[in-house]
Amino acid sequence: MLYKRILPALLILTLAVYFIARYKGPEPGVITTIDKSNLEKYWRIKEVNMEDGQFLLAKNSASITSRFRLRDFEIDFKMKTTKGAVGMVNFASSKSYDPKTFRGYSVLINNSDYSTGIVQKTGSLSKIRNNFVRSAEDGEWFNLHVSVEGNHIEVEVNGKLISEYTEPQNPRRLENLTGIVLSRSFISLRKANDLGEIVVADMKIKPIIDKNSRVILPVKADSLTDVIDSLNQREFPLIDFHVHLKGGLTMDQACQHARSNGFVYGVAANCGLKFPVTNDSTLNSYLKSIAKEPVFKAMQCEGREWVTLFTPQAVAGFDYIFTDAMTWTDQKGRRMRLWMPAETFVDDDQQFMDMLVGKIEAIMDAEPVDIYVNPTFLPEKLAPRYNELWTAERMDRVVNVLLRNQVALEINARYKIPSIAFIKKAKAAGVKFTFGTNNAKNDDLNRLEYCLRMIKEAGLTTEDIFIPRARTERKILKKGLPAKVTG
Ligand SMILES: [Zn+2]
Repeated sequence: MLYKRILPALLILTLAVYFIARYKGPEPGVITTIDKSNLEKYWRIKEVNMEDGQFLLAKNSASITSRFRLRDFEIDFKMKTTKGAVGMVNFASSKSYDPKTFRGYSVLINNSDYSTGIVQKTGSLSKIRNNFVRSAEDGEWFNLHVSVEGNHIEVEVNGKLISEYTEPQNPRRLENLTGIVLSRSFISLRKANDLGEIVVADMKIKPIIDKNSRVILPVKADSLTDVIDSLNQREFPLIDFHVHLKGGLTMDQACQHARSNGFVYGVAANCGLKFPVTNDSTLNSYLKSIAKEPVFKAMQCEGREWVTLFTPQAVAGFDYIFTDAMTWTDQKGRRMRLWMPAETFVDDDQQFMDMLVGKIEAIMDAEPVDIYVNPTFLPEKLAPRYNELWTAERMDRVVNVLLRNQVALEINARYKIPSIAFIKKAKAAGVKFTFGTNNAKNDDLNRLEYCLRMIKEAGLTTEDIFIPRARTERKILKKGLPAKVTG
């Protein structure tokens, strides 16, 4: 009976010895720098030029591919892209590359400006945890770190965790993506377009082949994770554009929440009269303080006075800016904040609605914002009659003002607005959308539940989603600020 135990153990041991003996890569557990002396020993190179100890990948499909196979490893690059260059670091993939039969994971390299080139940016774990935030710039050195340990993948750029993913036991993949699964296989760096160059100044690898230390992390799974994973696989921009560091929420906590749930965040500062960011100087120091964070940098334009407090050049430092129509002064000169019942005056329901629509039109026509947030919000007293009061004619007026000013419409997860009818109308007219949580505290970030439902019910596609404008195309620079405050 002893044989029953000993024989399988012997077999496993023999196989283990065989595989370890067959491994012809850099020494396990040790960091090996890849340079001219050992490059060809460990890697197959194709169309790679070497200059002053640097590797240059210019041609589309130029590549450096490992001769060895690894399941777990850490790899580091110090690299630079020149204008327009796109590349990828592939792992768990085949020896040769064929986009049609590709298996394994891809980490994207692309430092093009927003709304220029492809939408995913450096550090994206493509089709699994897509990143849309620029984490590096063309023409500047950056560090890219990729690690696979057990079922956990991490991608860092310049020391900031951009993407992380824990592969479940039986990952659910779309039909054509079933090959995206961890395996003991080849690692490669590959140029993926004809533009620019990828220059590698430093490349290090640390193989991990101690299977005994492999930790398999549990994976949270529910109906929402399936929806989120499937949208990521379709490269749908799952961006929460409206997150605040409020109620003690830190940048790291927000980023962690985004990564673990499969989103990308835009973090917004409240900027206006009596707010912490209230002039160019506080604006610039705020932007400087978050410059390296892997989030979109957003400005929430507060009150209506914000247009008098900042210069367009300073405002253009933000990736995008937004406002709502919840703060304004009525015909009787009463300054209202619609979310505060004590500061809201509704003398006549229909007249109030007409005034609200007029204010939305005036604000979106005058203020050079990118997104209308908390849209169609009604004060507490009127909210129960939302569908009745937001008549087709009123909805049309708002849709039209957004369209003529190229303002995107937020789908707000906190207030669950606008209604599906409104979203469908806006989509049919060609308005772009964003998603926003507008959290008030550190424990109400949630998971864009209402937005995910609306994506499905309204049939929103990637083309319907707003992407921040390129630096030179920012609305604030093109349109400037209005001469006077909107009422
Ligand atoms: Zn907000």
